[in-house]
Amino acid sequence: VDGEKQFVTSAVHADSYVISTAAPESAPGDPGRFSFVIVDRDRPGLVWGAPWTGMGMRGNESRSLRLEQVRIPRTNLLGELGDQIWYVFEVVAPYFLMAMSGTYLGLASAIVDITTSWLKQRTFAHSGESLADAPVLQHRLAEMWMSVESARQLVYHAARLGDAGDPGALAPLLASKAQIGDVVVQVANEAMTVCGGQAYQQNALLARFLRDARAAPIMSPTTDLLKIWTGRALLGRPLL
Ligand SMILES: Cc1cc2nc3c(=O)[nH]c(=O)nc-3n(C[C@H](O)[C@H](O)[C@H](O)COP(=O)(O)OP(=O)(O)OC[C@H]3O[C@@H](n4cnc5c(N)ncnc54)[C@H](O)[C@@H]3O)c2cc1C
Repeated sequence: VDGEKQFVTSAVHADSYVISTAAPESAPGDPGRFSFVIVDRDRPGLVWGAPWTGMGMRGNESRSLRLEQVRIPRTNLLGELGDQIWYVFEVVAPYFLMAMSGTYLGLASAIVDITTSWLKQRTFAHSGESLADAPVLQHRLAEMWMSVESARQLVYHAARLGDAGDPGALAPLLASKAQIGDVVVQVANEAMTVCGGQAYQQNALLARFLRDARAAPIMSPTTDLLKIWTGRALLGRPLL
């Protein structure tokens, strides 16, 4: 295999990588030409780029990877040649989408919890008034909570249908990651306003959560693509 890939998560740290490849003899643009192969970390010909520094997700290491005539045994082929699309949508996507949705649902829930605690604990020294008494802040907190709880129900609904192998699971699975990706950015942004100056400190918890949340709409599959695919799934059209 020859090629180059940006953004390899867990670069250097993982024991093996699943790589999407095209057979050289196949026609360009043919979706059936891609296959997945497992590439072990110690294969000769893997050249790693420098660590990529993200805006957030500082616990993650992503790097670029160049493959220079890496020889891979046939036993490392996942499924059959040209099987990638089937593999992506039938094997990888349901679990991967749920894992991503669950991650960002957890983040969004934590943001609502922190905001609630802040509103309860913040009182003004001169008047003794609590932020929790301000109707506009009660309203903002309610909106944050409503968005997160609606998204939670979609994630759980998708998980239940996916577990049951329901043919109607596809649209909810795709939509749940798109929905929570939008919601987590929205509530992170809102919390930064509601929690005032202390949230805006360098490396304050909410500031870190905002940076992490911003990855949600762009981590693959991106929100734009997920919404297009959800529409196609609802219309009974092929996703690709
Ligand atoms: C921290 C991090 C870790 C990552 N880890 C991995 C990894 O381990 N493995 C991996 O394979 N990738 C990984 N990625 C890459 C990720 O999959 C891509 O960033 C993502 O697919 C978007 O591609 P791009 O960055 O090239 O943006 P672009 O392709 O330039 O897209 C920019 C915007 O345009 C939209 N867009 C593009 N094409 C279309 C279209 N046809 N229709 C509608 N909208 C479109 C996208 O939705 C996006 O919002 C990682 C990215 C990040 C940030």
